[in-house]
Amino acid sequence: MKKLLVCLALVATSLVSAQNNSGYWQQHVDYKMEVDMNVENFQYTGSQELVYTNNSPDTLDRVFYHLYFNAFQPGSEMDVRSRTINDPDRRVGDRISKLSEEEQGYLRVSSLDQNGNNLSFEEVGTVLEVTLDEPILPGEKATFNMKFEGQVPKQIRRSGRNSAEGVALSMTQWFPKMAEYDFEGWHAAPYIGREFHGVWGDFDVKLTLDKDYTVAASGYLQNPDEIGHGYSDKEVKAKGDTHTWHFVAPKVHDFTWAADPEYIHDKRTAADGTVLHFFYKDNDEIKENWKNLQDKTEGLLAFFNENIGPYPWDQYTVAQGGDGGMEYAMITLITGERSFGSLVGVTSHELAHAWFQHLMATNESKHEWMDEGFTSYISSAAMNQVMETYAENPFTGSYRSYIQLANSGVEQPQTTQADRYNLNAAYGASAYSKGAVFLAQLGYVIGKDNLDNTIKRYYDEWKFKHPTPNDFIRIAEKVSGAELDWYLNDWTRTTNTIDYGIKEVTEGGDNSTTVTLERKGLMPMPLDVTVRYNNGEEEMIYIPLQLMRWEKPADHENWTVADDWAWAYPTYKLNIEKPLSEIESIEIDESQLMADVNRDDNLYTAEEASTAEEEE
Ligand SMILES: [Zn+2]
Repeated sequence: MKKLLVCLALVATSLVSAQNNSGYWQQHVDYKMEVDMNVENFQYTGSQELVYTNNSPDTLDRVFYHLYFNAFQPGSEMDVRSRTINDPDRRVGDRISKLSEEEQGYLRVSSLDQNGNNLSFEEVGTVLEVTLDEPILPGEKATFNMKFEGQVPKQIRRSGRNSAEGVALSMTQWFPKMAEYDFEGWHAAPYIGREFHGVWGDFDVKLTLDKDYTVAASGYLQNPDEIGHGYSDKEVKAKGDTHTWHFVAPKVHDFTWAADPEYIHDKRTAADGTVLHFFYKDNDEIKENWKNLQDKTEGLLAFFNENIGPYPWDQYTVAQGGDGGMEYAMITLITGERSFGSLVGVTSHELAHAWFQHLMATNESKHEWMDEGFTSYISSAAMNQVMETYAENPFTGSYRSYIQLANSGVEQPQTTQADRYNLNAAYGASAYSKGAVFLAQLGYVIGKDNLDNTIKRYYDEWKFKHPTPNDFIRIAEKVSGAELDWYLNDWTRTTNTIDYGIKEVTEGGDNSTTVTLERKGLMPMPLDVTVRYNNGEEEMIYIPLQLMRWEKPADHENWTVADDWAWAYPTYKLNIEKPLSEIESIEIDESQLMADVNRDDNLYTAEEASTAEEEE
């Protein structure tokens, strides 16, 4: 509890300073829900009281709720999109079109009132459009009371009943959820299978279901001694056939749960005081992996605490469920029948999302690269340490995948709305790989120390909020002192590529050598050029990019700073104060942290040069 109070105090101060600096505001929700789940037919009913605070400067005369489960009906946008895209997700394919009525999902609102007055509303696919009885003025609150009923679909994507691994209930995106309204207006996008954007607030949820089921959920269980199931050591006898589980989740933008009658529930307290819960099926083939995962999860948590900022909640849960891995507030649902490396890898990725989505809650539909890419970056770094791989560049997989995308002809800019990619594969490489390279390469551009400090300051200034790409790059600018608008713009808003090469190496006057460098791609970059001499010496020549108005601090021995390269000039002459005969090799970006789409011309060696001459 202490941890939470400290973090709430921090939220209060950071909101004040953000408002002073940039006019930042965000809406607030307080949910109270009571839900009855029938585990026989997977139908549930619920009541929801939502106190909505309009912190915007605008008067609202309508609101929107998401009804995600309606996507799991034949003919839904999600179904049709999956059957018409060229590379459908194999988990979805045409499976939605084949669901029987008993297997479909739905979420229906039977009544809704605002401050006690009935509202008219219309269900349009996965969105409920609501006309308000009276407008909500800036700074005012409205209380919405709703009754709803749902059916859990057969497990197809993320949510559902009876997953492939036999988990009974994966309850994600399962309740009528208020859409976010922010400085860009309403975000009431239909659910087509991609990601989310939610309103920050507090959740108080009571779940009633069969007493044999163990529940994993966002939030803190309020009545462990009435429940048992590994939450309390007390022997508990249910009074009837059901238990009512009472969870409270503060300062989150989602509430998720999972339940199964065969869950094993382990818990342990990590070094920072966070209680880690693990829920997995009683299956001999996976038990050992799930036991060994627990130490690694502690290691990962410590890594993220140190390299991003302290995990602010008192609990985190890893539960077997869903169809792969997906992050939710204080909980992840992952598939559990995996090799140990894959199990730790997916946990690393989803736990990292506790920061890059559930603390720095970017709009995933608009800026998918900020949550998936940043998560991939920090998760690769964490795995490199926790799995004791210690690779010099743990991001090579992301670079390979991005460069393949850039050379494929199917790349779309990262500003593309997540649902609007021509190919799922292009979305994946753009969000995950190109997004991870955005950060790893920023370390090349401004130096690793500046990158590390940027990530920490991003956490300090933007946790519990909705940062945008510009918010992030402004922090990188303030931390480093460099101008970086070009980097954000070319990398994320265009498909311009980076391609530098060594065009020519010739004798210069006075025992010097002239290296002609060439910019073939449209995207500018500063260059690190490594020169190796025959006597074993090595020099790093740094060529600043003029429009950065800045020089990177030396991060290498024998560091020489050359003249700026102004972008429009396609070539640049680098003068080396040594005769050509003393040079063994010259290489552009030996670290390979710059995502050059064609590295064939990045290396000059004296040996190859002499062979080429003989062959002419
Ligand atoms: Zn992810």
